[in-house]
Amino acid sequence: MNAVPYEIVVGLEVHVQLLTRTKLFCRCDASFGAPPNTRTCPVCLGLPGALPVMNGRAFELALRTGIALDGEIPDRMKWDRKNYFYPDLPKGYQISQFDLPLARNGRLAIEGEHGDGPPRIIRIQRVHLEEDAGKSMHDEHEGRRDSRIDLNRAGTPLLEIVSEPDIRSAREAKAYLTELKLLLTYLDVSDCNMQEGSLRVDANVNLHVRPDASPHGSVIETPIVEIKNMNSFRAVERAIEYEVARQYDEWTATGATRATAPKQTRGWDDREEVTLAMRRKEESSDYRYFPEPDLLPVVVPRSRIDAVAAEMVERPAAIRERLGREWGLDAAAADLIVHQGRAFVAYFVDVARELGDPRRAANWMQQDVLRVLNERSMGIGRLAVAPGELVDLLRRVDRGELTRSRAKDVFQRMVETGRSAVDAMRAMGIESVDRSALEALCRELVDSNPRIVADVKAGKSQAIGALVGQAKRRNPNADPSEVLRICIELIGT
Ligand code: ZN
Ligand code: MN
Repeated sequence: MNAVPYEIVVGLEVHVQLLTRTKLFCRCDASFGAPPNTRTCPVCLGLPGALPVMNGRAFELALRTGIALDGEIPDRMKWDRKNYFYPDLPKGYQISQFDLPLARNGRLAIEGEHGDGPPRIIRIQRVHLEEDAGKSMHDEHEGRRDSRIDLNRAGTPLLEIVSEPDIRSAREAKAYLTELKLLLTYLDVSDCNMQEGSLRVDANVNLHVRPDASPHGSVIETPIVEIKNMNSFRAVERAIEYEVARQYDEWTATGATRATAPKQTRGWDDREEVTLAMRRKEESSDYRYFPEPDLLPVVVPRSRIDAVAAEMVERPAAIRERLGREWGLDAAAADLIVHQGRAFVAYFVDVARELGDPRRAANWMQQDVLRVLNERSMGIGRLAVAPGELVDLLRRVDRGELTRSRAKDVFQRMVETGRSAVDAMRAMGIESVDRSALEALCRELVDSNPRIVADVKAGKSQAIGALVGQAKRRNPNADPSEVLRICIELIGT
């Protein structure tokens, strides 16, 4: 089993930017990429006397997420000030939620360690809403060593999702993040664009060293380290792996434990692939949380929660299950299709239903449809071929009007031109090859290639591939598998 004498314990804090048009407490545009400091007002600049007003849409999206994560929604939530000084936080505090968060005690099921088997449940400790800070940029301008501050991001709505320390490996951390991101995308609450910082991850990591390796005979915990602000899943995986090795080495060398050493905050250096000490970790008392006096508590009536739950889209886990149950897809195929998004799932279901052959529909979706979408880096919403047109093409293969391999070419043409299957076939000069014509062609090839025929007869069966190649060049509509079959018959091996 596990050769290392410890268990890895990880809890993740994920910050996602919500897909609202405006910021959390003012009406400034919340979109990414505007010139620095052009999306600000007295409220998000923290000017004295300016008053916040809650963005109802942000609350709605947060509520949807809390419910989708099976969280308990309290009937009342409130806002708190989290006080700290930072140059990109002009108010000197962040409006967040402390003791009455939007949701508690949720859960997210992820794939078990071996892919099949039962899913693992990662408990969600809390989900709360808060505002983002601005952005500091250090030494980013050619030839000058300076620091600049962009407050466009100050006040944009963030949802913080905190897991319990239920994650047991770097791989599991990635599985959790992948599933969470997928869910948030399905819910339309965030675009989860990691390059733009819409999804950021902090990881709390420590080790539980087992008794047989510790001199004290009971499980020993290494000091908890929080790795801040990673914005790729790969960084999270690598940082956890690094931190596990580092903590075990440190424990072996110094014997420092959670009981004797303080929490620590470390940063992940993507280039060097190491974590670096940043500061002693603040305890929550360092932030002097107190209720935000400028905002009223929010009362959440049961009817509101029920209404949001009633309008909830089908969640990825439920769709996977449905693709297995109703359409007989295996877990890997269902997962791949679900990961392409809601519209892709709907397209698959349309094709499967109309064709009456879900496996073949799934194969086409996974191979040919996905290939053209990737080649053109576009979503299925922009695919020029309607599900019914794809089904029509596949039916023509069944009727022998064209071969499987030609069908792939025709599909490509349909995608490029937006034409129907029959029009694309006509434009490509495709017609079914009459049985006797195919036999005549094969006979001609066998007669005119004595060398190949001799090789095949001598047992070099792969030599026959050359005949199939010639047939395909002479008549692109010839079905390679039929040519092969007829030629073998004619040669008589
Ligand atoms: Zn503003
Ligand atoms: Mn936070």
